[in-house]
Amino acid sequence: MEFRDLKKQYRVLRSEIDQRIQEVLSNTAFIQGSHVTELEALLADYTGMKHCITCGNGTDALQLALMAWGIGEGDAVYVPDFTFFASAEAIAMVGATPVFVDVRKETFNIDVDQLGRAIRKTLKDGTLNPRAVVAVDLFGQPAEYDGIRELTNQYGLLLLEDGAQGFGGAAGGRRCCSFGDISTTSFFPAKPLGCYGDGGALFTDCDEWNELLRSLKVHGKGDSKYKNVRIGMNSRLDTIQAAVLLAKFRHFAEAELKSVNLIADLYTAGLAGLVRTPVVKQGYYSSWAQYTVRLKDAQEREGLQKYLKKQNIPSMIYYPEPVHSQKAFAVVRYDDRDFASTIELCHTVLSLPMHPYLEEWEVEEVIAKIREYNEQK
Ligand SMILES: *Cc1c(COP(=O)(O)O)cnc(C)c1O
Repeated sequence: MEFRDLKKQYRVLRSEIDQRIQEVLSNTAFIQGSHVTELEALLADYTGMKHCITCGNGTDALQLALMAWGIGEGDAVYVPDFTFFASAEAIAMVGATPVFVDVRKETFNIDVDQLGRAIRKTLKDGTLNPRAVVAVDLFGQPAEYDGIRELTNQYGLLLLEDGAQGFGGAAGGRRCCSFGDISTTSFFPAKPLGCYGDGGALFTDCDEWNELLRSLKVHGKGDSKYKNVRIGMNSRLDTIQAAVLLAKFRHFAEAELKSVNLIADLYTAGLAGLVRTPVVKQGYYSSWAQYTVRLKDAQEREGLQKYLKKQNIPSMIYYPEPVHSQKAFAVVRYDDRDFASTIELCHTVLSLPMHPYLEEWEVEEVIAKIREYNEQK
């Protein structure tokens, strides 16, 4: 059993993927070819956003958004403590200070009450200037944007949606990557919509930011490639990667999202009472980047992971450490008591095999082995 079976996906979609890649090999427009433009139009339409700007990866996408907003030294940017490192790294990379916020244990997403408290604390301290919130759609489920928007409106902050794991998810009739003032995603192979290397994109309704982002991602270009009007990056999506994404997209939107949701329902029904299963809020739709359960404590989790491994069932720990306690952030002093839920999650979460090509009998086997583990201990 594979944790995320990209080989099987390739076998199923092979003819379309090969054909699309071959188009690029034949016309040799490897950089900024027509497939890139075609993909941007398709993804803008899917998310309901006016502009889609592709770039090199999901981390660059976050950094580009913060650069476009001129966020830097002295600015506070709020980010959940339970996420992939890149969500906070991009903030530090532009010189701003990440202010970590605890998450809700049931959904793994940012705790809106704690977010409000963190913003008010920054204002009271008076050393940093609150500028933006990076909200993460962790494991595929959109963050609580109603509550987050209230706060960003109240305090005049910008909202950056890190939809690296959320692409394909939805809430309140809106798709992920449409909730931020700028939203970003990643096409890293294991993400819900993945290419065959690195890739990323930004989404916005704002014409001005669209122009700015398109300049920033190509060396701060002006009217032409050799007129440079600002300091930027070199962050483009390869045409071959755009071709792969074009070949995969229809299956992703029409079939793969349905499959992962069926699998999640099977898991949740079968695992009831055995482990704590993930909660998808009423009216929310997850793209199931991960199916993550919670155990009683670290010992139980270690035991289960070992037991599954013996039966050739892979599982992963996303994430083993809060971002605030990573060595890279050791220069800043944080109080562990502010992150009780994140710390508990880091000790108790376990992600199970999840991908659109997982067979029903495989899901049943995982459930059966977890039941066995519970009975033998
Ligand atoms: C994967 C990921 C990123 C970074 O994307 P890359 O394409 O790997 O740079 C950022 N944020 C989150 C939440 C992610 O899961």
